[in-house]
Amino acid sequence: MNRNGLVEQLPGLRKALGPARFDAEAATYAAANHEDSAIGLALHIAESAPEDWIASLAMLELAALICRQAPEGAGLDAEMLAAMRVDDASVLSVAPWALLLDTEWRVLDWYAAVLGGSAPPEPTPDDDLILVARCEGEVRFERLTAGAYALLEALADGQGLGAAAGAAAALDEGLDLTAELARMARLGLVTAVNGRTRPDPRDEPFSHVCGRCTLCCRHKTVRTDPHEIARLARQLGLTTGDMAARFTQGGGGTVLARQPDGACVFLKDNACSVWPARPLTCRLYPLGLVLRPDGTEAFVRAELPLGKLGKVSDEGTIGAFLDAQDAEAFIAASKRYDAWLARAEARLGIRARAVSRPRKSAAAAALIDLDTAVARHCRLTGHPEPTDLTARIDLHLQILEAALNAASTQDQTATLKAASGLLARGLGVTEA
Ligand code: SF4
Repeated sequence: MNRNGLVEQLPGLRKALGPARFDAEAATYAAANHEDSAIGLALHIAESAPEDWIASLAMLELAALICRQAPEGAGLDAEMLAAMRVDDASVLSVAPWALLLDTEWRVLDWYAAVLGGSAPPEPTPDDDLILVARCEGEVRFERLTAGAYALLEALADGQGLGAAAGAAAALDEGLDLTAELARMARLGLVTAVNGRTRPDPRDEPFSHVCGRCTLCCRHKTVRTDPHEIARLARQLGLTTGDMAARFTQGGGGTVLARQPDGACVFLKDNACSVWPARPLTCRLYPLGLVLRPDGTEAFVRAELPLGKLGKVSDEGTIGAFLDAQDAEAFIAASKRYDAWLARAEARLGIRARAVSRPRKSAAAAALIDLDTAVARHCRLTGHPEPTDLTARIDLHLQILEAALNAASTQDQTATLKAASGLLARGLGVTEA
């Protein structure tokens, strides 16, 4: 790994140590170990730094790196957690992408400030109990009460739920066990209950063979999130703004327009004219993807219209069908925008998904429009615009996140509420 890679992976430590000392530590570590490893360097600094708070910060960044690199796997959903027995017989397996940190310094405030781009506060000694966990591909940090920390620590040690709950209650009589279990489900912190794992819905039997009747391209609501608009725009050689203006209902960028006979705007000569870039709704049909609040998936089956020629059977699996439709990248992008929407709803105290007609706002439309938002951001920061679509989507999501974190005025909040409404309307996945 080159020095830039280390800087990217350990931003807090570099800020805390300063560039010169960080580089010197990296050189010392590389010379002694013949490798440039971010995890190794974080551990080296945790063990050798004379300042306790820098050692704690190194452990925090180390935990974040380990979470990112932990093997993939599904967490359990709320249903399975609710069905278990809350006594000594229930043993929960805590996921490898969840780590606990107990420091004597409030390093989390410091780290959040660094990541948010603001001036870090003076590090101060105080107990900091932190959960570092990966959820939907992103590493998150949560401050824990002593009781919740004890509960998770005991579970991670392999103790039964009853014993773990007892240890937690000894430190925090008011610990709400149900709320803690719900949090574990939401973050996917538990991978098995008594050795049982959640069946993967993608293993369910399913297949669909298209009969080319085109009924699924007529009188349908085909939703489009910013990533799907960008895919269609690239296919058509347009900007996302022009694509939305010309081919979506009311130019809003959230639902594909229809021809006068009800056919999708892209249905030409009984065939899809944008097939390689068709949205997720079209790829999934006749399935619908539902995301539960804990991030797990469920697939629902649409009722087939009268006269449809396509054949549904149990010969394959949902997973194989999704692969055949090249749906994974679309699902992944939708989940990332969906995760931002969930954070926006929680932060703004709204239910954007329950609003049928989002308020019109030019500022919100500009924030949701990928090319407009990326161009504005790069103009203001002086950075060159990335050309690769994946990098542009990453940047767009960072812009949305930064807007959410920085919102303080009434205008900014109103723009974010309207943007959340637009996004909720355009997402091709729904929440249970
Ligand atoms: S985008 Fe293509 S597949 Fe989807 S509804 Fe329109 S014509 Fe049909």
